[in-house]
Amino acid sequence: MRPLVGLSSDELASLAKELGQPAYRGKQIGRWLYHAYAATFDEMSDLPAGLRAALVAGFTIGTGRCVSASLATDGTEKLAVRFGEDAVVECVRLPYEDRVSVCLSCQEGCAMRCAFCATGISGFRRNLTRGEILQQFLLLQARAPERRISHVVFMGMGEPMHNLDEVLGAARILVGEVGLSARSITVSTVGVVPGILQLAEAGLPINLAVSLHAPDDGVRAGLIPAARKWPMSEVLDACRQYRAKTGRDLTYEYLLIAGVNDDPDQAQRLADTLRGAPGSVNLIPYNPVPGAPGFHRPSGQSVQRFRAVLEAAGRHVTQRQERGGTVDAACGQLRLRALSEPAGLGGAR
Ligand code: SAH
Repeated sequence: MRPLVGLSSDELASLAKELGQPAYRGKQIGRWLYHAYAATFDEMSDLPAGLRAALVAGFTIGTGRCVSASLATDGTEKLAVRFGEDAVVECVRLPYEDRVSVCLSCQEGCAMRCAFCATGISGFRRNLTRGEILQQFLLLQARAPERRISHVVFMGMGEPMHNLDEVLGAARILVGEVGLSARSITVSTVGVVPGILQLAEAGLPINLAVSLHAPDDGVRAGLIPAARKWPMSEVLDACRQYRAKTGRDLTYEYLLIAGVNDDPDQAQRLADTLRGAPGSVNLIPYNPVPGAPGFHRPSGQSVQRFRAVLEAAGRHVTQRQERGGTVDAACGQLRLRALSEPAGLGGAR
C-alpha cells in the first residue's frame, strides 16, 4: 500500500494519469490531503467512485495514527504517532496569540546520544520518510482546524541533518502545497557541520537553530558527543556561511542545566566565543527527564543572571516560553507509554 501524503501535486497528477484519470484529479487529491486533512478516501467526495475504489485498493493516505494525546489548558497538545507497526514519535502543537507553531520529529530515536536528552538516551531506531514527517503536521492541524499552523520547527525527536533529504522534501511540500512560508520553518541541529553547509545550498530560505549548550568545547563535549567531531569554531564558521548564503535568521540554543553550564562566568565566555558570529541566543531551562538523573533545572534567578551577562555583552537573547505544563514535563514519556500499549488508541484522530 503506497502512502500518498508526501507526494507533490505534480507527482499526484502523474499518479492520476497512471490510474487512467485526467491530471487535474491529482490536484484535487492534493487539496484533500494538504488542505482538508482527509483521513479516508471516502471523504474525497469530488472524486469519481472508480478512482476512489482504485485508491482504496492500492494506496493509503499514510500509516500514521495518533496513539496517545495530551492537551494542556493553554492549548498545547502533544501527540504520540505510530507509523505502521514499527515506529512511534512525538509531535507538539503550540498555539500562541499571534501564531501557531508545531514541533515535528524527523527520526524515531536519535544517534547523537546527548547526555541530557530523553531521545538520545533511547538510541536510534530509524529515519522517517517525508510523508511521515508531514503526517505529524496534518494530524496536529486536523485536531484543531480552527487555527492554521503558521510555523514549523524541527525540534522533536531526531537529528534533521542525518535525514536531510526527507526533512527538505517535507519542507518543500509545506511550502509548495500547504502554503507555508519557508521563512517560518526552522531546522535545529546539534551542529552537524556538513549538514549545515548542505542546507545552505538547498535554495530554501529556512531558519537555522544550532544547539550549542556550552561556552566552550570542553563543557560541550561532556554533553554532546558530536562536539568531539565538530568543534565550536567549525560550527560557528558553518553558521557564518549559512547566514551569508541564505540571509536567514540564526539562533544559538543554550540549554541551561544547574551547576553544569549556568554560571555567569560561562555566560561571559559564551558571549566571547560568539563575538563576530551572527544570531541570537535562545535560553532553554532544562526539562528533567527520566534516564538523566544528574541533570537539574536552574532557578529562575540563575537564568536571569545568565541572560543579563549576555545582554550586557550586546547579544540578543530570547527565552523559551513555558508551555503546556504537564504536557512538557512528560517529554519523551508519551512515546514510551505508547510503545508499551500495543493496541494504542487506534484511529484516535
Ligand atoms: N537534534 C536536534 C533537534 C532535536 S532536539 C538538536 O540537537 O538541535 C531540539 C532541542 O531540544 C535541542 O536544542 C535539544 O538540545 C533540546 N533538548 C533536548 N532535551 C531537552 C530537555 N530535556 N529539556 C530541554 N531541552 C531539551
